Amino acid sequence: MASLADAGLKFTTLPHPAPASDEAREAVLANPGFGTNFTDHMVVIEWSEGADGVGGWHDAVIGPRQPIALDPAAAVLHYAQEIFEGLKAYKQADGSIALFRPEANAARFNHSAERLAMPSLPEELFVEAVERLVQIDRAWIPEAEGASLYLRPFMIATEAFLGVRPAKQYKFIVIASPAGNYFKSGAPAVSIWVSDYTRAAPGGTGAAKCGGNYAASLVPQSEAMARGHDQVVFLDAAEHKWIEELGGMNLYFSFEDGTLLTPALTGTILPGITRDSLLTLAREEGLNVVEGRYSLDQWRADAASGKLIEAFACGTAAVVTPVGRVAGRDGEFTIGSGGPGQLTQKLKNRLVSIQRGEAADTHGWIRKIA
Ligand SMILES: *Cc1c(COP(=O)(O)O)cnc(C)c1O
Repeated sequence: MASLADAGLKFTTLPHPAPASDEAREAVLANPGFGTNFTDHMVVIEWSEGADGVGGWHDAVIGPRQPIALDPAAAVLHYAQEIFEGLKAYKQADGSIALFRPEANAARFNHSAERLAMPSLPEELFVEAVERLVQIDRAWIPEAEGASLYLRPFMIATEAFLGVRPAKQYKFIVIASPAGNYFKSGAPAVSIWVSDYTRAAPGGTGAAKCGGNYAASLVPQSEAMARGHDQVVFLDAAEHKWIEELGGMNLYFSFEDGTLLTPALTGTILPGITRDSLLTLAREEGLNVVEGRYSLDQWRADAASGKLIEAFACGTAAVVTPVGRVAGRDGEFTIGSGGPGQLTQKLKNRLVSIQRGEAADTHGWIRKIA
């Protein structure tokens, strides 16, 4: 969809007239949880299509976080024309603040936008919006180990109409939420349930970070939890045989011969930035890193024979999380000792130390915020 490349858009800043008190903020930072507490501000940028059929971004505002008014006919409420991103700002070892690969999130956001027939947002504008929010709300970044400021950029179709076609008005919004550990217990290894439901079919929207994908994953996730598991794992839609990913995390498998395998990006898997970063870090560790196919049957057999020694899930929210147990209709099996493995821990440490500014950023992944 055509859009004016308004990269030089001027932001209007409206500081919050009554921000949270120091006590209220400190209480949140002492125990941030995940996704339940928010900072004082948000960014909103509007997009609209003019009578000439050309659209553009305008009215960039950073102001108090508050409810947004939507017409009940707003397209997002009916046909789920919505996309989002997730990234984190980290306190660095030297006290400064940094984002991890925000340009990669900006690029993926535009891939999602393209799939959902939404306007693209200049990548510099995406990154600037995120940076400005982190700057104005920098007092909201928790400093405990494993803690960060989670950023949620998203775009919704706001035009009021009930026809099924791409909307002519959108809002791009960024909100921020102080985050602790994603898994409540800080569990040493998660247990996952192999779902009979599918997450994404060939030609569908599995590679886009769009809200509808997650609405469709709620029932499979509840089913996994009702059976006593932490997460759901999805198989491919066509053969119901190949491992794809979890509801919001990619998967890796580590073998005793030094091979590290992750399902290839075939269009039904979300291209995780954590996944991509780990491909690079694992190659540097000298592992034989493969993007390929792995079946549930092979997984079970390799876990039993000891060929497979570790499995882990990865994503911005949960970072790197060991998978200890897998269960499905055909029974259950344990991976390795059922607890965190050495390689999982090593790769996690490598990644986290770069994100925290404790290890050299040799790949240009860290973007410091002034
Ligand atoms: C966001 C997401 C991931 C992980 O992506 P990161 O960029 O590493 O955070 C993996 N799978 C799904 C389905 C996701 O939505």
